[in-house]
Amino acid sequence: MLTLPRFDWVAPASVDDVLRELAGHPGECLLVAGGTDAVPNLKHRLHEPRRIVSLARVRALRGVRADGQGLELGALTTLSELSREPLLRPDFAAVARAASLVASPQIRNMGTLGGNLCLDTRCTYYNQTYFWREALGFCLKKDGVRCHVVPQGKRCVAAHSSDVSPTLIAYGAEVEIAGPAGARRVPCDEFFVGDGIHNNILKGDELVTRVFLPDSARGQRAAYGKLRPRAAIDFPMLSVAVVARGDARRIESLRIVVSALGAKPRLLGGLDALVKGHAADESTFAAVASAAAKQCRPLINVPYDDEWRHAMVPVMVTRTLREAFGAAA
Ligand SMILES: Cc1cc2nc3c(=O)[nH]c(=O)nc-3n(C[C@H](O)[C@H](O)[C@H](O)COP(=O)(O)OP(=O)(O)OC[C@H]3O[C@@H](n4cnc5c(N)ncnc54)[C@H](O)[C@@H]3O)c2cc1C
Ligand code: SF4
Repeated sequence: MLTLPRFDWVAPASVDDVLRELAGHPGECLLVAGGTDAVPNLKHRLHEPRRIVSLARVRALRGVRADGQGLELGALTTLSELSREPLLRPDFAAVARAASLVASPQIRNMGTLGGNLCLDTRCTYYNQTYFWREALGFCLKKDGVRCHVVPQGKRCVAAHSSDVSPTLIAYGAEVEIAGPAGARRVPCDEFFVGDGIHNNILKGDELVTRVFLPDSARGQRAAYGKLRPRAAIDFPMLSVAVVARGDARRIESLRIVVSALGAKPRLLGGLDALVKGHAADESTFAAVASAAAKQCRPLINVPYDDEWRHAMVPVMVTRTLREAFGAAA
């Protein structure tokens, strides 16, 4: 049986009190929202905090609201709530769809949007017990000096495995971060960095409070595609978010995010030049799928064959494009 380590546990009721806790105990705290990822990681000794700061009582961070410029999604909104949120339909339906595909119903009832955004990266050599990792000499991400996926590498390439984030990036969402100097907003794409040791820009004294979906992103076609071994529960081994403006006769713009490959979701480049003014047909989809395959390089960071995952990139991109444009997937 895997046990939890010892820690102090506090549950402040406001964002200011959370910030006071973080500032008062630098380097000692772990934020916990739903706990669906943090608790297994604590049991594996992947996190070893002195103090758990639970967000569960911060009611101000719950729920979805329209604020006149777009939608404001509270970081503590659960994935189940997101998946059936009426305000997300029809314009941001891919966010609800991605939330509905996370894990299992029980986990979606506990797991939150903020926890999904800040989900720790995953790797075959990391998501293991302490005993397993010790036998291998640990790794760069925790307690060791060497990466077993890219042995000469200086950065961790563990996989970003959050289902909701790729859709947020594709819609051009912004993340609100609260810290000692106040709140700031960053584009969701810039929230992530390409080092799996800590794959976002959050500092130890900050938390995610909200996500904003702009009204300017309304009226687009969108879909989310997830490749996983078992539809009932698994993390993605490849995920694709598509958001496009236009219709089947003429595409105006296209954003595609491919994830579950490296530490940061990949917003594909150069797509508008390929699709602008073109019909949403199989030849356009094939050109986009081929560009995606060139830009994505799966690694052996998750326990599935990297060449097969690479071969699945154009397949998943094509399927997701067909779904977005209402063609038979
Ligand atoms: C069996 C299993 C299957 C899973 N499958 C999937 C899957 O298919 N897809 C997927 O995306 N996820 C999956 N997960 C992971 C997880 O359940 C979800 O990502 C969930 O959304 C995490 O939210 P949480 O509130 O439980 O996060 P927690 O576990 O509470 O926290 C996760 C991380 O986020 C940080 N954090 C939480 N909230 C904030 C905040 N507001 N600001 C700053 N940091 C914060 C925590 O410090 C921690 O590092 C799975 C988990 C399990 C156990
Ligand atoms: S990618 Fe390398 S450093 Fe990162 S968790 Fe895996 S083995 Fe460790």
